[in-house]
Amino acid sequence: MSRTWHVALPAPDDVAGWRAAAQRLDQAGIAPDLVQFTVKGDNSGLFAGEELTQLPDNAGETRAVPADLGELANLALRHRDPERFSLLYRILWRTRSQPELLKIASDPDVDRAQAMAKAVGRDRHKMTAFVRFREIVAPDGREVFIAWFEPSHHIVALTAPFFVRRFANMRWSILTPEASAHWDLATLTLGPGAARGDAPGEDRLEAAWLTYYASIFNPARLKVKAMTAEMPKKYWHNLPEAALIPQLIRGAEARAKAMVAAAPTVLERRVPQMVKQPSRELPLAQGETSLPDVARDAAGCTRCDLYRHATQTVGGQGPPDAELMLVGEQPGDREDLSGQPFVGPAGNLLDIALERAGIDRARVYVTNAVKHFKFEPRGKRRIHKRPDAGEVDTCRYWLDQERALLKPKLIVALGATAARGVLGKSVKVGEMRGVVRPLPDGSSLLVTVHPSYLLRLTDEADKRTEWHAFLADLRVAQAFLEGRDQQ
Ligand code: URA
Repeated sequence: MSRTWHVALPAPDDVAGWRAAAQRLDQAGIAPDLVQFTVKGDNSGLFAGEELTQLPDNAGETRAVPADLGELANLALRHRDPERFSLLYRILWRTRSQPELLKIASDPDVDRAQAMAKAVGRDRHKMTAFVRFREIVAPDGREVFIAWFEPSHHIVALTAPFFVRRFANMRWSILTPEASAHWDLATLTLGPGAARGDAPGEDRLEAAWLTYYASIFNPARLKVKAMTAEMPKKYWHNLPEAALIPQLIRGAEARAKAMVAAAPTVLERRVPQMVKQPSRELPLAQGETSLPDVARDAAGCTRCDLYRHATQTVGGQGPPDAELMLVGEQPGDREDLSGQPFVGPAGNLLDIALERAGIDRARVYVTNAVKHFKFEPRGKRRIHKRPDAGEVDTCRYWLDQERALLKPKLIVALGATAARGVLGKSVKVGEMRGVVRPLPDGSSLLVTVHPSYLLRLTDEADKRTEWHAFLADLRVAQAFLEGRDQQ
């Protein structure tokens, strides 16, 4: 009777260990039915056969694992099916006589391995989408983000580098029943499994996140089936926002109706006046001594063409002694109709974020880089259109007046247009954000993203990360105003 062999791999996702063993067995010409693979510590079954270490090194010619099989094995071997190692070894063995084996999708071995690889790919995708970090303060006083996740397959080591790239600036740990991954801003470490109770249940950002999630939930886009397929119930208990879903679904119909009723519109009376009025130069407003003077003069502004289509100038709003000036891009549909800045969806989100950052909006002067709503009529709706650099630069005239009179301690520019309005040149928000910088007029500037950017995000992980980043920027602003900054 032929000798049989036993390969005990140290870990369930030991792809490199399998590869080394498989190459050695293949090289020695040992047929798959004479080999048994197990994972150390896994007590299922009797292990017949000799340890692989007994296999002489010298037998036969070395053969590399074909590249396409290597790729397939890298995923399929992380499947929880106990037969995965034998199956992949059998496929490797068979490629001796059938080098094109992997191209035969109808082959039962190939079909099974590919189905495993697909399942692992899906599991990875779920992990990237549904890991939710919760913030804790470690004993050394530093912030650490901890997540609990229950993958279906052995994917932690494979997926952890994704989180390193995505959350490079956070200290985090992802705990799962079988393994854990830890990032300390420099090194990724893999460790043993953990229990659900090891991960914190809630964090101080949770409430903000839930409010944000509810505010961006678009009932008109609600497709319960698609949503549960994309976010399977299995993962719901780890997702803080999932607790809101039943209630959001129940309220969706009514909210959808309300949204339709409040949808941006082109008021018919406004359309004909669009093309008629010629552009005319407004004499430079001079000698304004107060913010109401500026508002009065800006109300008649025709310095660029935007006034022709908008309902009214939307000036700044807030106390004349505000230390903080928030600059947005331009008024939206609701602002254009009401004459007040940040009262629409972006404004609602801004209000939530300000509150979470401990900033009282009533003490803030809120304005925009461009004071008229720029839009494109589409059917009955007015669709926001980004102001161009010329319009921002022209409208800077008003922003400069507001700045000169208010003399804020800090200006927070929300997005690239606002930053251009303040600086007079284009900058990259990603490169500037989150840092307080002095300005030549004695005030300071902090650039961050615009809340509309957060409203446009579709990826769940992006939403959460960007929301936290936005709150972090606003907290830097608040710390600066309170004199707590380190800068
Ligand atoms: N977006 C802005 O930039 N400003 C507003 O006032 C409203 C939305």
